[in-house]
Amino acid sequence: MRSVATKVRVGVLALQGAVREHLLAVTKLGHQGIPVRNEAELKHVEALILPGGESTAMRKLLDQAALLPALKTFAVHRPILGTCAGAILLSSRIVGQPTHHIGVLDVTIERNAFGSQLNSFAGRGSVGAIKDYPMVFIRAPLFTEVGPGVQVIAQYQGQIVGVRQRSIWALAFHPELTEDLRVHELFLKQE
Ligand code: GLN
Repeated sequence: MRSVATKVRVGVLALQGAVREHLLAVTKLGHQGIPVRNEAELKHVEALILPGGESTAMRKLLDQAALLPALKTFAVHRPILGTCAGAILLSSRIVGQPTHHIGVLDVTIERNAFGSQLNSFAGRGSVGAIKDYPMVFIRAPLFTEVGPGVQVIAQYQGQIVGVRQRSIWALAFHPELTEDLRVHELFLKQE
C-alpha cells in the first residue's frame, strides 16, 4: 500500500450501485479491482471503495450480508473511500435520521442536499491543490459539519464535498464517472 509502484488489491463493495465504474478506475490505475460481497472477500483486499447508489438499499443488503461489524473494523486498519451513498454509509451523523450505518467518520451529512430541482449535474471544484477537478453530482449529499479530526479535502462553490479522517475518505461526488482519476490515485497513495 505504501509505495507508489505497488499494485494494491482494491475492493469495491458490490451489493448495489456504481460498482463497475470504480473497478474500472482502479484497474486503469494499474491496481487490482476486486468486487466485495461478503466478509471472506473483504479479508482479501487492502483498501476498499464504497460506491454511490442508494444508502438505504445498501444498508439492507449490508445487514443481510452481516457485513457492518467487519466494515467498522476494516475502516480502523485499512484505507476506505466512500463516494456519495458510500459517504453516507461512513458518516456518524445523518441529518433527519436517528441512526448511522457504518458511522466511523466524524461528520454530519445531509442526503439529497441539492434538492429535487437539481437531481444531477456536473461542475468543477477543488480537491486539495487541484483547482478544477470535474465533479458529477447525482442526488448528492453535503457535509454540513466536520469533527476536529476531519480534514476538508474537496469543495464545490464553497460547500464541503470531500473529507478525510486519517485513512477514511468520503466524497459527495462521483470521481469514477469522469476520465480524471486523480482522486482515486491520491486515495490509493494515501497522500
Ligand atoms: N441520494 C442517495 C442516498 O441517499 C445517494 C445518491 C448517490 O449515491 N448517487 O443514498
